[in-house]
Amino acid sequence: MQKNYVIGFPRIGEKRELKKVLEKYWANQSDFSEVEYLASQLRKRHWNYQKDAKVDFISSNDFSYYDNMLDTSILLGAIPKRFENLKNEELYFAMARGNETCVAMEMTKWFNTNYHYIVPEISKETTFKLNSKKIIEEYKEARELGIKTKINLIGAITYLGLSKSVDNSDVYLHINSVVNTYKDLLLEISKLDEQVIVQFDEPLFVKDLDSKVLSLIKPVYDALANTASNIKIVVTTYFEHSNEATKILVNTPIWALGLDFIYGAKNFESLEYIKNSNKILIAGIIDGRNIWKSNFKDKLQLLEKIALTIPKEQLIVSTSCSLLHVPFSLKYEDNLDKEIKSWLAFACEKLNELALVGKQFFDLKLNLEETSTIKRNFEDNNQRKTSPKIHNIQIQKELKNLKILERTDKFEDRIKVQREFFNYDYLTTTTIGSFPQTPEIRENRKNFKANLISKDEYEKEIKKYIDDCISFQEEIGLDVLVHGEPERNDMVEYFGEMLDGFAFTQNAWVQSYGSRCVKPPLIYGDVNRENPMTVEWIKYAQSKTSKVVKGMLTGPVTILNWSFVRDDISRSEVAHQIALAIAKEVNDLQNAGIKMIQVDEAAFKEGYPLRIENMKDYAQWAVENFRLSVSTSKIDTQIHTHMCYSEFNDIIKTIEAMDADVISIETARSGNRLLRIFKEVAYKQEIGPGIYDIHSPRVPSIEEMVNQIKALLEVLPKEQLWINPDCGLKTRKWPEVKQSLKNMVEAVQIIKKGE
Ligand code: GLN
Ligand code: ZN
Repeated sequence: MQKNYVIGFPRIGEKRELKKVLEKYWANQSDFSEVEYLASQLRKRHWNYQKDAKVDFISSNDFSYYDNMLDTSILLGAIPKRFENLKNEELYFAMARGNETCVAMEMTKWFNTNYHYIVPEISKETTFKLNSKKIIEEYKEARELGIKTKINLIGAITYLGLSKSVDNSDVYLHINSVVNTYKDLLLEISKLDEQVIVQFDEPLFVKDLDSKVLSLIKPVYDALANTASNIKIVVTTYFEHSNEATKILVNTPIWALGLDFIYGAKNFESLEYIKNSNKILIAGIIDGRNIWKSNFKDKLQLLEKIALTIPKEQLIVSTSCSLLHVPFSLKYEDNLDKEIKSWLAFACEKLNELALVGKQFFDLKLNLEETSTIKRNFEDNNQRKTSPKIHNIQIQKELKNLKILERTDKFEDRIKVQREFFNYDYLTTTTIGSFPQTPEIRENRKNFKANLISKDEYEKEIKKYIDDCISFQEEIGLDVLVHGEPERNDMVEYFGEMLDGFAFTQNAWVQSYGSRCVKPPLIYGDVNRENPMTVEWIKYAQSKTSKVVKGMLTGPVTILNWSFVRDDISRSEVAHQIALAIAKEVNDLQNAGIKMIQVDEAAFKEGYPLRIENMKDYAQWAVENFRLSVSTSKIDTQIHTHMCYSEFNDIIKTIEAMDADVISIETARSGNRLLRIFKEVAYKQEIGPGIYDIHSPRVPSIEEMVNQIKALLEVLPKEQLWINPDCGLKTRKWPEVKQSLKNMVEAVQIIKKGE
């Protein structure tokens, strides 16, 4: 009896082997055969991990050199014209990363995760035709190792739904062609074995779908499931409930449905339909998005609750989604506090959890080792609940007794006082915070962390950087200066390292896109700020100039959204604790004479829930906590915020409710189009629309920026506008930054003179 199921496994390698070999290949330091060899080693290792953990359903085709949406475009032959003359790996990586002549395809976030996929480009002319052997080969490769896999594919509706139309035609015009191509593939697959299982991932089904898309589900899965009698089709959704789609899918000839019961508790509402349809339910109960050790008791309870409706014979237990979104293994975490480590489970540990929860649920015989693991699971979870590491009574009390939750002065009053205090007129120039992180800066930080240099030596270097940074900004005539953030490795990690309740791993990397990985901090306990975190550096910078220096902080919602967050209290509560910590920092900064403070909320939008029904709640607590984080600021302290994106149409009222005095946003690549919404809603506060794109090394000319500013002035009055780049400059090089900022300041001068 096959009883447990893994939706998918990460592929970058536990030591980021795939990243390293890819980057070597891209730098022309190895040839592609080396990449291929390593990839096969990784697949073998990952299959064996799952086999050893006694996972029954193991995937093939969850591997990818770069991204599985990109793989799907190749598989279906949906290759944009500009890549026409390329083949094989050249074609593949050109689509992903561009080359001398072709720009790369767009990349965007995979639902509400930090994984990014390559967006398919579809036009009326796109044709589809089976175009890859990868799937068949990977299946055979696993079979040779003695592992019979299920085959993972991106579902046809999700594939088209996530693609972008380059000519404004309806992407679903192609649904039949895509399905026919998949049918051709299924016929190939059907020759592989007596029976094969194919998993179609349809995470799009957890979004609020219109009736047109919903109407595609039945014909698509009727067609696919009827293609070959020896293929069993699984449709999986994750990250939320998919009740609308489930109701339809139960009436198609698919074999099983995979649903997420961690992030889609509402899937319970579909159980009755599933039971009556006799479909197998693959119940996602091991969290594929977070890193905490499962509580076996809770998991079994959840399963028993499902089993009240669905008979056990109709059930398989699984991960809530692919394990792509968690790090590989705890085995490299030697420096992590032992107690905290005992609360964690990464992908490899989750495999064992899955198998063991399954065994308990299905009443299978446990061996001695398993019995003791179960006992330890119980102890570790109990110990976590009561650990003094997690609970800070003092902070809990303080939060309960908080009187002031937001600024009391109204924007209209504040801005009057501030304009007088800072004495700025209009089109005021500034930057978003960071300046280039040079190799010297990184070296300095590394040496300090490795105890190779003293704190004094380390700080001397940082001060030198700040000195240069300030004098450069003065030289070119920027109005509002920054210290440049040389002391920060990362805008979240820097704060996390100084707050109680955060832990940092050595090796908990998660793939973000292509070869890039991130290593999010873990928030395990009550957050508390003992001491000021930024005051000394900003004060130092301010002491070097008579111009205004803007202090730089990261906001509570962004710190939350870019961390692995404890699951024993709600996310909003955690955000609340972080907000209080930031509010204290704001207060210390203003008391130290720093009267302009930017609280970055770069990740505010990405925290939005997938379903409209949950958005209001998130928006409310996210706004409340941002407001709390700046609640200490006095009337003449000017609060800025920054967001790294530009599509505000659907959330403009929420952004306004954050009530920052000034917001800087990313609009450089879209002229003034995206600014219009601010005008439409008669947005009150001041705005700094990025006037040039910092994501490219290109230096924009003065003329270009003059035109860009003129375009902005068509939409909003000059008094409401600030002038700044798109985002922080830390990924750029000094020569580019110097020339670009100089041009930016000159462009403003030209505009002002021309009036
Ligand atoms: N202040 C940060 C910086 O300039 C903001 C970064 C961001 O928005 N991602 O680097
Ligand atoms: Zn940004």
